[in-house]
Amino acid sequence: MDYGCVILKKLGRREMTNESEDDLAHKILKDIKAPSDLGLLRCVQCGLCTSMCPASRHSEYDAREIIKRVLDNDESIIEDEIIWNCFYCYTCHSVCPVGNSVCEVNQILRQMAIDKDVGKKQIESFMSFADSFLEEGLGIIPKEYHGQLKIDYGKHWENLQENLQEVREELGLDSMFLLPEAKESVDKTLDAIGFKKRVDSIKEVRNRK
Ligand code: SF4
Ligand code: SF4
Repeated sequence: MDYGCVILKKLGRREMTNESEDDLAHKILKDIKAPSDLGLLRCVQCGLCTSMCPASRHSEYDAREIIKRVLDNDESIIEDEIIWNCFYCYTCHSVCPVGNSVCEVNQILRQMAIDKDVGKKQIESFMSFADSFLEEGLGIIPKEYHGQLKIDYGKHWENLQENLQEVREELGLDSMFLLPEAKESVDKTLDAIGFKKRVDSIKEVRNRK
């Protein structure tokens, strides 16, 4: 069998059949997060992404299958919890022969899931990270994780926490917190891009429990 010919035919089928501009694949390609050269429609289902994907190795997740369902316009994938198994390690992205990125497709699918509400419960437990952006203007490890870090890293974590300022001074680093004027700029930006509203709408899921 001439595999090159089969692949070229497959490439042609995707690009020439001009499937509906409203299908899931095109919605993903039009998303602001999609790179202009994302090779989603060029996927040849070779499975290389799956063969290298840690999530596919350790769970029911299948990177190639994610793309197949998108190309089949199977919108049920947005509500399927399987999309939350991806680690965002970008291995699939680096090996895909046609410039597709399951990782980036997945990120857009997750945003769609959050817009539809079904994804909010998947990320509401991480909202304390969002709070640190809103309160301090930068991402810091929220206090609620300190207990677990103490268990995992014992004395190293305690020493770092107790002597952090001293260590920073020794390294010639300024305060890790933003200057008030910088904090104000970050605050305005987060407000303007709708970050605050999005965080509030995700937290609503927590209150519904
Ligand atoms: S490696 Fe690329 S072309 Fe191959 S199945 Fe995965 S996304 Fe499709
Ligand atoms: S980014 Fe996600 S889909 Fe890609 S290899 Fe990593 S875990 Fe798998």
